[in-house]
Amino acid sequence: MNNPKTIRAIEKALYTFLDIYFTARDTEGTYAYFSDFLTGFGSSKDENAFDVDQAKAFFARDIREAPNPIHFTIEQLTITAPNDETGFVTFLLSISTVLHKQVVSFNRLRYTLSFIKKADQWQIAQKHLSFPSSITGSDEGYPVKELEARYQTVKRLVDEKTEALEEALEKITTLANTDSLTNLPNRHFIESRLASQLKHLNGDEALFAIIMVDIDSFKTINDTYGHLKGDTILRAMAHTLASQLETSENIGRWGGEEFIILCPGCSEQETMKKAEAIRQDLSQKTFDNIGIQTASFGIASYQKGDTVESMIMRGDRALYEAKRLGKNRVVVYKP
Ligand code: GH3
Ligand code: MG
Ligand code: MG
Repeated sequence: MNNPKTIRAIEKALYTFLDIYFTARDTEGTYAYFSDFLTGFGSSKDENAFDVDQAKAFFARDIREAPNPIHFTIEQLTITAPNDETGFVTFLLSISTVLHKQVVSFNRLRYTLSFIKKADQWQIAQKHLSFPSSITGSDEGYPVKELEARYQTVKRLVDEKTEALEEALEKITTLANTDSLTNLPNRHFIESRLASQLKHLNGDEALFAIIMVDIDSFKTINDTYGHLKGDTILRAMAHTLASQLETSENIGRWGGEEFIILCPGCSEQETMKKAEAIRQDLSQKTFDNIGIQTASFGIASYQKGDTVESMIMRGDRALYEAKRLGKNRVVVYKP
């Protein structure tokens, strides 16, 4: 009774069988463990097998329907060996696998096997699988606990999908709002930002201004060094402009080599200071082997009733004046 050597041999046979059946899902390999008179019943389908052929048919169907490896863990394993040729094994089995792209798992199923030894080989003579009794109702396909586990699985899948969609949406939104050459906010983004900032302003006291920026004589760069080099310089200049601001959300590429800077809460005086600082910073930088590359700045400060168009128009006028006066300077719009 319970000869330790026999117990160890049965345990070894059990794990080998579970590996072949659950992990490898090997039909023929599984059959090799069946005794000629294997009987048994179990599973949620309430099926009985009264001979080895029926048992084989159930196992084959099971492997065919769920061919992916089934991960298993066992708990509370008890092996009893009344003599050296017979063993009874019971344990609680938890399994999980991927079925139809969904993770399906069952926890703590009661599993009973009887082993007999025939010609030095341990074989299964009886198999019984059942759900824990207290939670299986006669009209329930699956016990409540398993339904709960399935619900958690579905919920997790839905959460993962939702998260992936949110990430994709964020990426698309960023792309839609970004200028691909300079990586700055594009015209669409900065224009709607300007519109929404204007919407929140009212009264004569409201402080707000915009700076229109246009790179000086940029055509010469393209003509001299080629368009690709022009792109590189344009990118570097955009980066230099943005680096002088607290947030890159308030600058955008308005057109070819034109940019707009929004200055919420800034008086005309403060905006001039800011533009002058940016202009000086730019005029002290050398770009690649091209050298100094300046820009002109036109400022329009908020007036009551301003719209996007009216502010841009005054900013453009001031910018035009800066060009007319010789470029590389800041001009504030004056009527
Ligand atoms: P200024 O503004 O000082 O009067 O002279 P400018 O030469 O900069 O003025 P203009 O508006 O006539 O020319 C702008 C040039 O900028 C022409 C165009 O080829 C170039 N440009 C606009 N967008 C891009 C771009 O994305 N890449 C490159 N490489 N060049 C661009
Ligand atoms: Mg220009
Ligand atoms: Mg221009």
